Amino acid sequence: MIHYRIVISDPHTHLVDVTLEADIEGAVDLVLPAWTPGSYKIRDFAQHIHGFHSTRRFEKIDKNTWRVHAGAGRLRATWQAYCHELTVRTSHVDDEHAALVTSNMLMYIDGRKDEPCRLEVRAPRGWKIACALDAAGPGIFKAPNYDVLVDAPVECGDFQEFTFNAGGKPHRFIWRGDSNLDLKRLRRELPKIVQAEIDMMRAVPYERYLFILHFTDDGKGGGLEHLNSTSLAFSRWGFRPEEKHERFLGLVSHEFFHLWNVKRLRPQVLGPFDYEKENYTTLLWAMEGVTAYYDDLFLRRAGLIAPSKYLKILAETIDRVQDTPGRARQSLSDSSFDAWIKFYNPGEHTPNATVSYYEKGSLVALLLDLEIRRRTKGRRSLDTVLRLLWSEYAAKGIGFPEGRYEEACSDVAGASLHGFFEKYIRGTEELNYNRYLAAAGLRLVAKPAKEGEPSVKSWLGFRTEKKEGRTLVTGVIAESPAQRAGLHAGDELLALGGHKVDHESWEKRLEERRAGERVELAYFRGSRLRRCRASVGSKKSGGCAIERLPAANAAQRAIYSSWMGAPWEKKAGK
Ligand SMILES: [Zn+2]
Repeated sequence: MIHYRIVISDPHTHLVDVTLEADIEGAVDLVLPAWTPGSYKIRDFAQHIHGFHSTRRFEKIDKNTWRVHAGAGRLRATWQAYCHELTVRTSHVDDEHAALVTSNMLMYIDGRKDEPCRLEVRAPRGWKIACALDAAGPGIFKAPNYDVLVDAPVECGDFQEFTFNAGGKPHRFIWRGDSNLDLKRLRRELPKIVQAEIDMMRAVPYERYLFILHFTDDGKGGGLEHLNSTSLAFSRWGFRPEEKHERFLGLVSHEFFHLWNVKRLRPQVLGPFDYEKENYTTLLWAMEGVTAYYDDLFLRRAGLIAPSKYLKILAETIDRVQDTPGRARQSLSDSSFDAWIKFYNPGEHTPNATVSYYEKGSLVALLLDLEIRRRTKGRRSLDTVLRLLWSEYAAKGIGFPEGRYEEACSDVAGASLHGFFEKYIRGTEELNYNRYLAAAGLRLVAKPAKEGEPSVKSWLGFRTEKKEGRTLVTGVIAESPAQRAGLHAGDELLALGGHKVDHESWEKRLEERRAGERVELAYFRGSRLRRCRASVGSKKSGGCAIERLPAANAAQRAIYSSWMGAPWEKKAGK
């Protein structure tokens, strides 16, 4: 048994005191993870570790590793961790609460990650402590091994909560502070989401589940999945209007579904982990994209959004992917593999050279689901694939080999899907939406422009941000009029057509120009004033929509209805 203790005695300093005790006689290495599972980027958490001491002689042998020499009896090591970054992957401690992502601060004993662990958390008087691990007393938790131990964030403070049962297991939702989240409504909606996901997977592989929500004041948000819990961050006043509330439900639905997809149903490389370096897989699209596909679909199946709303969400995702030139440059497999250095390090060239394994992955999941439904006449679906992999691997506590995912899809479809994977997952062929949407009696059409708006918009192909009152170019689309005219990321835009513009106004001024017209741009590059002439391009406005085929046959209608969880007959808009 490895004993850990985290003491929060001076929370206003953002420091916590950590102790590790274990019966060890020989020399051992104590290692702090360099990354936290679910967030695929090396973050070197050891930068926040200070004041390491040990009852034995020790030396640091690399950035994450403290070597403790042999000695008699029990080893005791102590250190401090500085926690002042409130994100779902980092820890935050102040005089109001402590959000502990324990992979940031608990070292493992190299070679002994499989041993049972005990964690004691000592929080200031009056603070509550929540964690999804098995409890062994107030503030004391147990885990069968290190992986489980650090896959359970700890929240301490004066939080509020509600609880409910689903699948015979207790679920707890905690939050702290003011916001414009309609909690009464969430209390009705969350159990429905949980039930829809349990109904699909037909397995409840946990004893309890904990949702931890932090409200942010910088507008940022996100979620991180854990074995039996999730950390969610959402903008404090960002839950309205309705669409924003639905985005939040989508986030909750997404993170909860990860308890199956990625936490348990996973490729072999995603657990047990190597915490010291990158863990590569070509299947993040299947972990994140498939989860992103299901998150909104579960809202539909739970009856929380209408079919028309669901189709609108899909169409908006298609618009974003089709607006990303990088979809022709990077495959989903490559996007997955390079997540560590590309997706998690976005920059000026990102849209030109990469594609999101979340967004394109969710669309490929849609196409795959519809293809399996078509080939099996609606008898099977992507749900069946996940349940198959569940019973073959996840239910036994093991990951699947990388190649098994495609095989499982083919097995369930009753035909080889090799061509599909070659084109759309390992290749960069344009997704043929209509071919697959037809299975459910649907088609993709260009959405007419809003009344009073032109059907095509003038376009130059660059983006800007406002920084300290300046309008800076943040990226230029490959082969766009702006790129041909010589504009760069980093240029400071000053004028368009001889008149001063800024971040808010330049696109409006551009709308007054016709396609083919030449327009002069004035900008600073560094300290030099420069001018260029760009030939105004055009872009269709309005995006796309998904609509029903008027002549859909009975088979198409049946697939629509079982996929959508709603009868075909209902009028659009319901
Ligand atoms: Zn995710």
